[in-house]
Amino acid sequence: PYEVLIIGGGPAGAAAAVYAARKGIRTGIVAERFGGQTMDTLGIENYPSVLETEGPKFAAGLEAQVRHYGVDIITLQRVAKIDPAGEAGGQATVTLENGAQLKARSVILATGARWRNMNVPGEAEYRTKGVAYCPHCDGPLFKGKDVAVIGGGNSGVEAAIDLAGVVKSVTLLEFADQLKADQVLVDKLKSMPNVTIHVNAQTTEVVGDGQKMNGLKWKDRVTGDEHSPALAGVFVQIGLVPNTEFLKGTVELSRFGEIIIDAKCHTSVPGIFAAGDVTTVPYKQIVIAAGEGSKAALSAFDHLIRTPAP
Ligand code: FAD
Repeated sequence: PYEVLIIGGGPAGAAAAVYAARKGIRTGIVAERFGGQTMDTLGIENYPSVLETEGPKFAAGLEAQVRHYGVDIITLQRVAKIDPAGEAGGQATVTLENGAQLKARSVILATGARWRNMNVPGEAEYRTKGVAYCPHCDGPLFKGKDVAVIGGGNSGVEAAIDLAGVVKSVTLLEFADQLKADQVLVDKLKSMPNVTIHVNAQTTEVVGDGQKMNGLKWKDRVTGDEHSPALAGVFVQIGLVPNTEFLKGTVELSRFGEIIIDAKCHTSVPGIFAAGDVTTVPYKQIVIAAGEGSKAALSAFDHLIRTPAP
């Protein structure tokens, strides 16, 4: 059995593995895809000490560091179920989709999240070629250009405010008949001179020249009018979905499906910890996920030394 078994091999899981292994305890990591979301990222320019790197290169660095510490790495496997220990200090059982079972005295959940897609033609084709999801990450790439933000909830309106300070103009498109963001954010957005807001706006297509996107098509749901503005980029802000489907009924989740954690990465179940984008921690970023993963490993170690095996 493992002392610590980590589920997920993104920045959170990898940092947890390094911290746990360096305590000299038996550590394993199960990841469907090592690197997680960083594998889908073109440029990373906001990780301390790294001026500029590419996602797959960053992911390879995560994996090399975890290997260096002799962590058992199980990739290309998905976890289907977790059964917490029956008694204090006992072993949890982690079942993979292929039926194999692993035992561990502590588990760290770091399965991350995925951006909700619009599912319109062109979105997948132009992903990272104009179609973006993270304003903190990709906003500066569109300096001096015209962009759209899809979604008028808090994240969409925050993204539009953030981008308006960087890009030439922002067009915000909301499907419903009003913006759902907090009034203070809506007021701030409306005060910005280079922002246009459309409600009842249904995005129907991302268009481009085969290399890059160059515009959007959207339909006014009330008048039926079709619009096709020229745009260099579109930020899709219609929700981040945590990868917790397999955890329903195991640990406490928020109404958004995020694992509820405290400041030490404890979940509602003793011996089970969580870190990174899959949790309620605010601001989903690599440096934050890595910090949270380290914290979760230190908390797991603390749990192990205080809770003797039955
Ligand atoms: P993830 O990276 O999502 O990793 C989750 C891990 O869990 C993966 O290994 C996955 O395979 C695994 N997993 C999931 N479910 C299971 C299961 N059931 N069984 C086994 N394994 C499972 N952040 C920045 O700081 N800077 C940037 O420039 C930046 N750019 C981004 C660009 C894009 C396109 C995207 C999508 C995100 C970007 N982010 C950026 C956000 C950043 O990538 C995430 O905040 C970070 O990767 C979260 O790390 P994580 O370890 O919590 O989760």
